Amino acid sequence: MADRPVRKPRKPHSARVVRTERLTPHMQRVVLGGEGLAGFSADTCTDHYVKLLFPAGGATYPEPFDMERIRAEYPREQWPVTRTYTVRHWDAEHRELTLDFVIHGDEGLAGPWALRARPGETVRFMGPGGAYAPDPAADWHLLAGDESALPAIARSLESLPDGARAHAFVEVAGPEEEQKIDSDVEVVWLHRGTRPVGQALVEAVRSLDFPRGRVHAFVHGEAGWVKELRRLLRVEREIPREDLSISGYWRLGHNEDGWQASKREWNARIEAEQERAHAA
Ligand SMILES: Cc1cc2nc3c(=O)[nH]c(=O)nc-3n(C[C@H](O)[C@H](O)[C@H](O)COP(=O)(O)OP(=O)(O)OC[C@H]3O[C@@H](n4cnc5c(N)ncnc54)[C@H](O)[C@@H]3O)c2cc1C
Repeated sequence: MADRPVRKPRKPHSARVVRTERLTPHMQRVVLGGEGLAGFSADTCTDHYVKLLFPAGGATYPEPFDMERIRAEYPREQWPVTRTYTVRHWDAEHRELTLDFVIHGDEGLAGPWALRARPGETVRFMGPGGAYAPDPAADWHLLAGDESALPAIARSLESLPDGARAHAFVEVAGPEEEQKIDSDVEVVWLHRGTRPVGQALVEAVRSLDFPRGRVHAFVHGEAGWVKELRRLLRVEREIPREDLSISGYWRLGHNEDGWQASKREWNARIEAEQERAHAA
């Protein structure tokens, strides 16, 4: 099934932090709510995501918050900075939006913000976007990701009907980072330890005895290892492009602004290289 991009509403939502919860040593849950979520919905894709808006370098913006006015009146470097997070859960009845943040140290905006977030605080975001949901017509599903893709993998597994066949691999720092997922699919938890991010994932998927039939795959996380798995799946396993949802969610050594700015070129280059290899 081809990924079908969902059109994002252009006006930001304004939400309040309702509660936070430390799920594991390196994963912080933040639940958002409030009247500002009245027009929000996120139930088409299992990889729905929102783009949180953080004030750039301590900038303050006039109320009511208006992106078009900010773009017109503020220099580019003071426009809000965006960070992308998966909708782990959307409870339309109680208007609660759950996001899970990887805590990856003191660097960055979103990770440290999630640790500090307190009930009542306002947060704005654009979205949702999204492009993937497990195709019910596939013979089996392959899901592979590091912590950043765990929210999307968990939501995808929870959406699978009883009896659906799936292989799911999630790489985390160690056993203390494993989470409970409400699914019959047995997740293979890979413990990174001191190895580079993604190495265990690439090895595990490479060693998988691929079941017969059509696979629909979801592979996301750090861009370097995602590239390796793309080669394996697209070039060696010859999985059609339309059956692969695969991209770098973040890139080691780059913040999201830097990664997003170079992502299109990175993807185009890798795709061209791998498509040439596939055709050879
Ligand atoms: C569609 C999509 C959905 C995503 N969903 C989620 C999600 O649900 N939860 C989630 O935690 N992330 C998710 N991500 C990844 C997240 O957007 C990035 O990790 C983002 O860079 C984090 O922002 P930051 O401000 O914390 O760090 P940044 O300021 O962007 O980066 C600061 C430094 O931290 C490093 N870094 C960034 N992310 C990580 C990481 N995960 N582990 C180790 N080092 C890191 C960067 O390489 C950089 O050196 C998603 C990304 C996309 C594109």
